[in-house]
Amino acid sequence: MTTDLAIAQRATLRPIADVAATLGLGSDDIIPYGHHKAKLAPHVTGERDGKLILVTAISPTPAGEGKTTTTIGLADALRTVGADAMACLREPSLGPCFGVKGGATGGGYAQVLPMEDINLHFTGDFHAITSAHNLLSAMIDNHLHWGNAVGLDVGRIAWRRVLDMNDRALRDIVVGLGGRKNGVTREAGFDITVASEVMAILCLATGVEDLKARLSRIVVGERADGTLVRAADIDASGAMTALLAEAIRPNIVQTLEGTPVFIHGGPFANIAHGCNSVIATNAALRLADYVVTEAGFGADLGAEKFFNIKCRKAGLVPSAAVVVATVRALKMHGGVPRGELGSENVAAVRAGAANLLRHVENVQRFGVPVTVAINRFTADTEAELAAVAEAVSGLGVKAILCEHWAKGGEGAADLAREVLRLTESEGQFHFTYPDALPLWDKIEAVAKSIYRAGEVAAAPGVRAKLDAWEAAGFGELPVCMAKTQSSFSADPTRLGAPENFTLPIRDVRLSAGAGFVVALTGELMTMPGLPRHPAAERIDVVDGRIEGLF
Ligand code: ADP
Ligand code: MG
Repeated sequence: MTTDLAIAQRATLRPIADVAATLGLGSDDIIPYGHHKAKLAPHVTGERDGKLILVTAISPTPAGEGKTTTTIGLADALRTVGADAMACLREPSLGPCFGVKGGATGGGYAQVLPMEDINLHFTGDFHAITSAHNLLSAMIDNHLHWGNAVGLDVGRIAWRRVLDMNDRALRDIVVGLGGRKNGVTREAGFDITVASEVMAILCLATGVEDLKARLSRIVVGERADGTLVRAADIDASGAMTALLAEAIRPNIVQTLEGTPVFIHGGPFANIAHGCNSVIATNAALRLADYVVTEAGFGADLGAEKFFNIKCRKAGLVPSAAVVVATVRALKMHGGVPRGELGSENVAAVRAGAANLLRHVENVQRFGVPVTVAINRFTADTEAELAAVAEAVSGLGVKAILCEHWAKGGEGAADLAREVLRLTESEGQFHFTYPDALPLWDKIEAVAKSIYRAGEVAAAPGVRAKLDAWEAAGFGELPVCMAKTQSSFSADPTRLGAPENFTLPIRDVRLSAGAGFVVALTGELMTMPGLPRHPAAERIDVVDGRIEGLF
């Protein structure tokens, strides 16, 4: 079998200036980073009049869904049928490339290039974000060392350090060992860079001034009396902005078929909102008629936050949504174990379709026109594919067979035509809750209307924290739910479409810079580890070429 990397390495790339030219950009409008990557110059403006299409998915299973692959395939397909389209994606995180997950540049004949660069250091954005985050960490410890004038409670410092690596040994550490000259001894820890609030801030900022204002609002910890200490209180936000001055510019690359793509920013879809930067999406909507973008995890998390957080904050109105499903994943939702996915099982597809139906219905609740993309795998049978189409027809939605992975844009032409048709209809986009609803009621609104929880249970202290933040003026913020991606419930083993469960809210966190309140429904992993045999063991450079990336 031809690997994704082999397909990517065989491709002939267009010079990046040619790719930018398809968007009407001249050589002054881009800042080239070598031959095949560029950043968008800051002066590109214009009417934001393109149509925005969201690619989301059923609840992820280990069988794989292919959201990124479908986002790329759909952008290529839209161009194949004559539409002026581009894609907006997230930047892959470096750490997981060396673990089990691999990269995030699509697959088969629906990929973005140069695959090795995008998955590894790319244009250095994540290094800049890591540096900006750790500058604040260093300034906090320096502030403590020189007398702690703002009166930070050393036991209540919320700001950690970050690294773009899966390194479990750094989750909990002690800093300041070795005597007084090395600063104040205290417990600290590392998260992976994509979990940094700086990442979420970069992705929600509308420009440099907004970026700086958001950075200054970051809450780094509390004083003994419970009052909040911000990044601005230790004068860090200006220098952090300086470190991010280049990183806030969208990166331009191309698909295997030469379609322009912005790849910019990559916040976690649990502790943050999980979509690419507002700056990139806004620019894309100025430059192309159709912009296809992806949100992380399943639609209960990714699409919900895309709509309720990103679209709300950036004033975006999505014109259509695509829910990606695979026969394999539906079979898993229908109770088939991973080892038995190879054999036909129409009954399991029908049973598992309950998960798909719930997600489709949820997107409809936002008033966004929707279709289903069946991302075809070789083992899928005709009867299984027909079962998916039949299941969604009751909702007035088409399930379209897509073969972009095997055939490129041509393989998703039917999907492109259906998406074009949907964007013609008058959607009635609306949020799950208004800004003015109390924070707890916002959590309940998402839990009951999107997840279909019967009850929402707050751990001790949660309601008091929310009340305190409301009193401090944060009541208008949206909520960012941190829940397992595997289930509508907080229990990752409950596949399919569970309902009337109790959703526990374990804790809440304030991301004042990003502008949301995080509600934690389970253990939150913010620093992944590597498996026993990480992908890194198989990655190499042979005859000047990278091998083993996937
Ligand atoms: P997601 O964005 O949902 O996490 P990706 O698009 O990154 O998923 O796809 C995950 C993996 O599945 C990739 O390695 C990709 O090559 C593979 N993949 C996607 N679609 C197909 C398909 N139709 N057939 C085989 N492999 C696929
Ligand atoms: Mg993806």
